Amino acid sequence: MSILKVARMGHPVLRARAKPLEPAQIKSDPVQQLIDDMLETMQEYQGVGLAAPQVHASLRIFVAGVAPNLDDEEDDDEDEEHSVPLMVLINPEIAVIGGDTADDWEGCLSIPDIRGRVTRAREIKVKAYDRRGRRIEINARGFTARVIQHETDHLDGVLFFDRMASFETLTFLDEFGKYWSRRPAAEE
Ligand SMILES: [Zn+2]
Repeated sequence: MSILKVARMGHPVLRARAKPLEPAQIKSDPVQQLIDDMLETMQEYQGVGLAAPQVHASLRIFVAGVAPNLDDEEDDDEDEEHSVPLMVLINPEIAVIGGDTADDWEGCLSIPDIRGRVTRAREIKVKAYDRRGRRIEINARGFTARVIQHETDHLDGVLFFDRMASFETLTFLDEFGKYWSRRPAAEE
């Protein structure tokens, strides 16, 4: 496995529409290698999610996942809210459930050290392939739903700045830590 270089905002690969994979292609060695490398890269940079275009591969694949923070005894509910099950999704298709939205902070490994508030659907259903090429369907809400929406946007060349209703909340990481959060904010 190896740690891949992450494309930063301005690189055209982040603005391209990524290509879907054929089911037969998913089990191929290069794709399995890419998935392993993406998982390792996400872990190395302590990301919550990572989409293939962020590592210069214009394919409809993303990985996501973060364990709950067990050290922090405060805000138990919020910590649970900020854990995301480990997932590898290929050709994801999102359907919004209900009309509820949530407004929360986001960051991005391709836009380092910046945070901003984004409104997203609170609950979604996702159809995709897993890394073994099986069809899967998952329901997600809260932070997990947010991460899936952020990563799926990457596959369409969309960055979280594009989703901000206003740039008023754009914040550098130091100031975010100082004024807006007690927890280190994750990047996706
Ligand atoms: Zn991102």
